[in-house]
Amino acid sequence: MGLSVAVSRFRPHGFHRPPFEALRRFFDEEDLTKDNYERLTEQMRARSTPGLFDRCLKDACNIALVLNQNRTMWQTDLFKPILFETDFIGGNDRDSFTAVAQQAGASLPSTLSGFLPIMEKLLQQRHDEGMIGVKSIGFERVVIEPVQANLAYHHLLAGHADGDDVGALSHYLRDRMWEACGRIGLVAVVHTGVWAGNYADHATIRPTNVLPMALAHPKTHFDLFHAGTPWPADAGMVARATHNVWLNLCWSHLISPTQAEQALDLWLDFVPTNRVFAFGGDYWWNVENVYGALKQCREVVAKVLARRVSEGQFDEARALWIAKRMFHDNPREAYSV
Ligand SMILES: [Zn+2]
Repeated sequence: MGLSVAVSRFRPHGFHRPPFEALRRFFDEEDLTKDNYERLTEQMRARSTPGLFDRCLKDACNIALVLNQNRTMWQTDLFKPILFETDFIGGNDRDSFTAVAQQAGASLPSTLSGFLPIMEKLLQQRHDEGMIGVKSIGFERVVIEPVQANLAYHHLLAGHADGDDVGALSHYLRDRMWEACGRIGLVAVVHTGVWAGNYADHATIRPTNVLPMALAHPKTHFDLFHAGTPWPADAGMVARATHNVWLNLCWSHLISPTQAEQALDLWLDFVPTNRVFAFGGDYWWNVENVYGALKQCREVVAKVLARRVSEGQFDEARALWIAKRMFHDNPREAYSV
């Protein structure tokens, strides 16, 4: 399959436009073709010099702060880390729990009740080093009794934990972790709805799964990611029913600008304006694309607000105030940054 055939399949997609906006902005090119891709590759390499991130994110996009999810503690004035939950609650095996303990300067305790303060110590330590949130996946919250979790921990230490044990431990510890996040001032970041393809079932991580989490941990701030795509109305209802859930349109304006518009329109109807974050990307590479994604997102927000202004619901000054809240003030408030 040739390049033009491959690209043409994605022309109408929400994902398609941002890279081409970036091509236009940074490379003065309208299209990607078999005649220019090698030259463009060389130009991109040549531009990839120290300062590239500042040039793209600060100069071209006017971004004040990036909630960085590349799963490292790497940070600058512009980037604040959010680590993945397994850094604190371990994974499928004993080694991953040993690693948590080691990071906190401890050895692996023989009981689960010994592990809990180590987990919290590490959360506090990372917070003090600059981490602002912990990322989890929005699976259904399952309440595990301590006796079952203790048993699972013993099985894990003995090297014969089965799938049920691993599941019980992760449910139990995730819940304790979210509670600790509230004490420490870390945001619980929850990926909901759409997966990155990969044959995964998006119905396993519906945004409504966040409601019991938020109710169980009222002092913890929850950042509900991706507008719960394709259920932004459900996501909105979760925020409406709680005081501690924020709705994040990150990635959703790339997946579908149409749905992002609908989401914002619905949320303006029934979610307080201080609880919506308008922008976030999903790029781990190709920082130039952020420019195109931001442009697409700004258009989504502008369209929804302009429609309401033209209908006389509020004036332009109010629309600009809402936009500023959603792009800047709201995430700063929720994350205390
Ligand atoms: Zn995500």
